[in-house]
Amino acid sequence: MQAKKLFKVEDNVVAITGAASGIGLGYAQVMAANGAKLALIDIQEQTLTEAVQSLKASGAQVQGFVADVTQTESLNAAFHAAVENYGRLDVVFANAGISGGPGFLNGNGDRNPEGEVENLSMEVWQRVFDTNVTSLFRTLQVVVPQMKKQGKGRIIVTSSISASMAESLVSSIYATSKSTVGHMVRQYAFELAKYGILVNAISPGPVITNIGGGRLKMTESRRPFEKATPLGRIAEPSDLYGAALFLASPASSMITGTQIVVDGGRILGIAD
Ligand code: NAD
Repeated sequence: MQAKKLFKVEDNVVAITGAASGIGLGYAQVMAANGAKLALIDIQEQTLTEAVQSLKASGAQVQGFVADVTQTESLNAAFHAAVENYGRLDVVFANAGISGGPGFLNGNGDRNPEGEVENLSMEVWQRVFDTNVTSLFRTLQVVVPQMKKQGKGRIIVTSSISASMAESLVSSIYATSKSTVGHMVRQYAFELAKYGILVNAISPGPVITNIGGGRLKMTESRRPFEKATPLGRIAEPSDLYGAALFLASPASSMITGTQIVVDGGRILGIAD
């Protein structure tokens, strides 16, 4: 079997939420480079327009849809418009998500009162759960009927290593939201297998993106994460290209309900 057939996504219709920046934009780039037709969904109109323009300039077939994953009507309208435009939906990356702020430790190992449970705000809890968890439920509700009609589909969720480990530098609200996402992947993979719909997660460790105000773009803030990563660096969005292509392509057609961890060994613990 040739790699070009095994990892083929050419002409597949791929929708991505949170597609205008970071990991979602990375998914868009690898899908576009391999001939997929793209529906990019994001709340930020300007960055979305820039992403669409730059992908079009590289020769990709791509449409942008401004929508908020926390608003059912807005999200439904975007997916319906994408299906109307392309006629089907082969792959959906449910990727949009936000940070919950810093964890209960600072980068230097001291306690960070702002991240301790008694000081966290209910407003942040609700916003993070709405954006990271309920948005996945909304996405499933709108894309599953279309995929059932087609008799197939791939749903690829951006989870996190925070789904599987307790965090100190990352908000407990965020980690808890991602652990819920991790179980939704198992639960809905189980339910939807009968319909040929595969549901899997990509679980990155820290990735240099705009999340959390882009704090991982700053050398000082990045250092404790780098020190905690056995491979000695943290990821760029391009480090996720391989997992994205694998889960979207025939290469993974027997895989559902699992996660691919892309974290430079972070989940294993701190080495030397
Ligand atoms: P990012 O901020 O660079 O990109 C997120 C994109 O989602 C932005 O374009 C933003 O406008 C969009 N978005 C945010 N809220 C939205 C909403 N309500 N509706 C529609 N779009 C919305 O961040 P990123 O790091 O690329 O995050 C993408 C996903 O990756 C998130 O689910 C995040 O939890 C996950 N993740 C990130 C890291 C990391 O370290 N960067 C690690 C593990 C998992």
